[in-house]
Amino acid sequence: MTQPILFINGRVLDAERGVTQDGLAVLVQDGRIAEVGAGIAAPSEARTIDLGGRTLMPGLIDCHVHVVAETLDLWGNMTAPSSLAGLRAGRVMEEMLQRGFTTIRDLGGADHGLVRGVEEGLIDGPRIVICGKGLTTTGGHADLRKRTDDRPGMMSDRLGSMGYIADGVDDVRAACRKMIKEGANFIKVMANGGVSSPNDPIHSIQYSREEILAMVEEAENAGLYVSAHVYTDRAIRRCVELGVHSLEHCNLISAETAKLAAEKGCIAVPTLVAYDALWLEGKALGLGPAEFDKIEVVRSGGLKSLEIMRDAGLPMAFGSDLLGELRKYHCMEFELLAKVLTSAEIIRSATVVGAELCQMTGQIGTIAAGAFADLIVVDGDPLADIALLQGDGAHMPLIMAAGRVVKEGA
Ligand code: ZN
Ligand code: ZN
Repeated sequence: MTQPILFINGRVLDAERGVTQDGLAVLVQDGRIAEVGAGIAAPSEARTIDLGGRTLMPGLIDCHVHVVAETLDLWGNMTAPSSLAGLRAGRVMEEMLQRGFTTIRDLGGADHGLVRGVEEGLIDGPRIVICGKGLTTTGGHADLRKRTDDRPGMMSDRLGSMGYIADGVDDVRAACRKMIKEGANFIKVMANGGVSSPNDPIHSIQYSREEILAMVEEAENAGLYVSAHVYTDRAIRRCVELGVHSLEHCNLISAETAKLAAEKGCIAVPTLVAYDALWLEGKALGLGPAEFDKIEVVRSGGLKSLEIMRDAGLPMAFGSDLLGELRKYHCMEFELLAKVLTSAEIIRSATVVGAELCQMTGQIGTIAAGAFADLIVVDGDPLADIALLQGDGAHMPLIMAAGRVVKEGA
């Protein structure tokens, strides 16, 4: 049992309403927020932390990461021993927590072992919500084999693999059941071409309608949902019509499709920084003109897509999708979002909307009695200056995950 902690004299940020409130104390006990209010009588053994007017806000939620992609060499990650991949993923997760992300949603790679590693205190990382592997067609976005490599399947039982090849309705159902049996919190499907994959143009449509419908049914039978990797309007629209709930990237979405997605209760996860980071580092990474062309197609649509989705009332969760060494750009996503969205909208996406997408509303992304004590102290008011959430935790003198202080001091 950990020592109760009472935060006093801070500004408590209400992410749902986008306001701060003075004069509230927050009591943390047994990993949860026990009480929020004025004049709380703390237990005698409690430690009191005087925030001196700083902001206390819910821990951040990143709804699109790949913790097993510790290097940009995706094939190298996949073929690494699982034990090594696990240790590398642990380091990636620890870095994320130190930036203030107390929950992450992994879109392909992470397994139940990493969930347990955090729960058992072996990894000093964020709570992790997983899908197992991302389902991909042969030749689809998560099929990393070269054209001349005709070995069947990939090394998908390795931790460092992000994808799992499944073709045909029966195999797709079996793959979903395997992921769910192994602890998936949702099903991920590669439904469109990609930037980092070798053989598929961005505009390619992946999986048949029947296969995606089968995934949606399998997920819904288990009380879960399907998340799709999608860029083009055609691919997004098809997924929305088929019952996919979570729409990753969405760079080339039209206003009409965004409106339909909003009506259907979908949540989008823009990941703008992934393309800006590739753009900045691409030359050094040895990317050729064909890859730059792919990046530019999605990068140029990014900011416009934010406007379209906001105006359509389509909720957006914060995501980053940075692979390998590019993860140093994690916090730049705030800067890119701020070109279109208000600070309150960005904070809401990285807390309340993220919580909904993790199916953990009321448990995370909020400062309320009963929620996990995932909290960050910010030196200033992030509603007035979103840059305070950048700098890899530089403006966060204290970070708490599930009631445990994981960072204290500058
Ligand atoms: Zn993707
Ligand atoms: Zn991704």
